[in-house]
Amino acid sequence: MRIPVIAGNWKMNLDRTAAVALARAVLAALPPGSAEGVEVGIAPPYPYLEAVRGVLRGSAIWVGGQDLSPEPYGAFTGDVSAPMLTDVGCSHVIVGHSERRQRGESSELVGRKVAAAIAARLAPVLCVGETLAQRESGKTAAVVLEQLDSGLRGITAGEGAHLLVAYEPVWAIGTGRNATPAQAGEVHALLRDRLAKLWSRAVAESVRILYGGSVKPENAGELLAVPDIDGALVGGASLVAGSFLKIIAACPQRAR
Ligand code: PEP
Repeated sequence: MRIPVIAGNWKMNLDRTAAVALARAVLAALPPGSAEGVEVGIAPPYPYLEAVRGVLRGSAIWVGGQDLSPEPYGAFTGDVSAPMLTDVGCSHVIVGHSERRQRGESSELVGRKVAAAIAARLAPVLCVGETLAQRESGKTAAVVLEQLDSGLRGITAGEGAHLLVAYEPVWAIGTGRNATPAQAGEVHALLRDRLAKLWSRAVAESVRILYGGSVKPENAGELLAVPDIDGALVGGASLVAGSFLKIIAACPQRAR
């Protein structure tokens, strides 16, 4: 059984006051027990992690980083490490988001970041996804599988137990153009088969694979109804409490 996950990626948005207010609004609408069968998480910008964590402390809503350094400590100006994220109360971290890959982050670096997250007991949300040009030239499968393989290189089935994968086609992120349920479902099935080859069918069936890319209240229901889509990584629509809550409410059967 896979519990669906709805995670908000706030990216580089909001200020401290707005971040706290948004976290409070989400929490107020999801009192303990109200969202049973769906897991909710939020990834705020680094400077607001502690404030948001303070609001959500004691609730089931997890807090995650949006990126991390592959190194634990040291002379890496501007970077934030996995132990630092756990220290401020994060349980998850987004790794390999396309907005980082597009700025030069290689699959090899993403793999080192996944390993660093796991070493610090942070659950990685490993993002994979193809560009429009790659999709149109028939390379979607090759691209996402290479990103998955590199991201998980050296990771054992046991270590990957808390892994989340997010399929986020680059052409759907922030564009208002989401993948169709059929397009997303096809890639999710492909990714799950690869996890089965890498580890085992049983482990692959336990890993949540989220869809991300222009998820909004209007399309969440049909996307989340696809059997291999185990939740959503939500960017823009997570910045408005009402939209984010509607997406949470759209999780069809709440538990699979
Ligand atoms: C994202 O950046 O992870 C994302 C899915 O963004 P959006 O929902 O805005 O397309």
